[in-house]
Amino acid sequence: MLDPVNILLVTVLSSIMSLAILGSLRPAGIPGVSRWMGAYVWASAALVLTGMQRMGMPFFTVLVPNTLLAIAVTQVLEGCREFFGLSPRVPLAWAGCAAVAAGIAWWYWVEPSLAVRIALVSAFHASIYAAIGGMALRYRPPGRPVYSYRFVTCSAWLGACAHGLRGITYGTGLIEQKTLLAVTPLNVVWLALGILVLPALSIGMVLLAHDRMAERLEHLANRDELTGALTRRAFVAQAGALLDAAWAKNTPVVLAILDIDHFKAINDHYGHAAGDRALAHFGRVVATGVQEKDLFGRLGGEEFALLFPAIAREDAVMRLDALRVAALAVRRGGDIPLHAQAVQEGPAAHAGLTFSAGVDVLQTGDTLAGLMARADAALYEAKTRGRNRVVTA
Ligand code: GH3
Ligand code: MG
Ligand code: MG
Repeated sequence: MLDPVNILLVTVLSSIMSLAILGSLRPAGIPGVSRWMGAYVWASAALVLTGMQRMGMPFFTVLVPNTLLAIAVTQVLEGCREFFGLSPRVPLAWAGCAAVAAGIAWWYWVEPSLAVRIALVSAFHASIYAAIGGMALRYRPPGRPVYSYRFVTCSAWLGACAHGLRGITYGTGLIEQKTLLAVTPLNVVWLALGILVLPALSIGMVLLAHDRMAERLEHLANRDELTGALTRRAFVAQAGALLDAAWAKNTPVVLAILDIDHFKAINDHYGHAAGDRALAHFGRVVATGVQEKDLFGRLGGEEFALLFPAIAREDAVMRLDALRVAALAVRRGGDIPLHAQAVQEGPAAHAGLTFSAGVDVLQTGDTLAGLMARADAALYEAKTRGRNRVVTA
């Protein structure tokens, strides 16, 4: 069982299973999956050929599989880059593949040395695995659960260590060996660790792809498609958690309820589709004015809520006023008529989208519902005072 050929065989089977599982993820259009699948095709072929080494034919059982395996890990790297939204091509890694091929040829036929060949191949694999692990650590999308990303980092860095140690032990002559598939304990350990990174990484990639799908579903469930704001349900849930945190840390929280002015006029004069475009425009304007920590939700129709944590009321009012100016200014003279106010007040009125807002601060013993009710009352006040303004409770 400890014969390296058996280890290779098991890895081939697991690579084929990895291919099948990654293949099931392909229709979901996850970036990088096609490259990952390509990697496992090359890896399987390389491992089969390596397993045939005792039959001779070094061109096909040494040079070709080493090159294919280098291409395979390069494709894993490029697939990961694609997954994380980076430009996938890594010319340096391809240069490394060429160097591996040239080095294998040189140290097989010109100056035969198994130790140098192993050191060379190990150094290449260790570098690629180190890069993959670093990428998963660095580029996890903010807010996503860490597990799958850490899994990839751990597997890749374990692989980098195994290859690194293997390269060092052979390169420094600590181990002397005639053939790659010799049954010596340390050879078996290095070979197993080095090769088992492939199935471990494939599990990691499946976890990453699943996290990406979960992220998409969460986005679909929690986001209003038209405006990009949180749905009412998601807003209430996240606002509740945010208020709990504010209680615990004793930090202020400001809530604003926004309602677009005379929105019905847009629908009536330009049709529902133009109204939808106006809502989308409003969503984009607000999105540019909110920060990562703020919550922006669509409560329904053309009514929205903004929750600002750790901010003074005056600052929140200033930011809302800035949004009001932005909503009014953008799109002036654009392709979509947005001048609800103009429709209401005649052609002399300004063109742009206006909203009214009611604002209040979280008080001791407050609930989200209580806070929202007070902000809503302030909004009503803003409407009766003539709209296009921010009123604090
Ligand atoms: P006010 O200044 O008093 O807020 O006047 P308003 O016209 O904005 O207020 P009202 O609540 O009477 O009208 C809101 C309109 O918004 C009614 C509804 O048809 C429209 N609306 C709600 N949701 C959507 C939507 O998703 N798309 C479009 N196009 N219109 C919507
Ligand atoms: Mg309105
Ligand atoms: Mg309304």
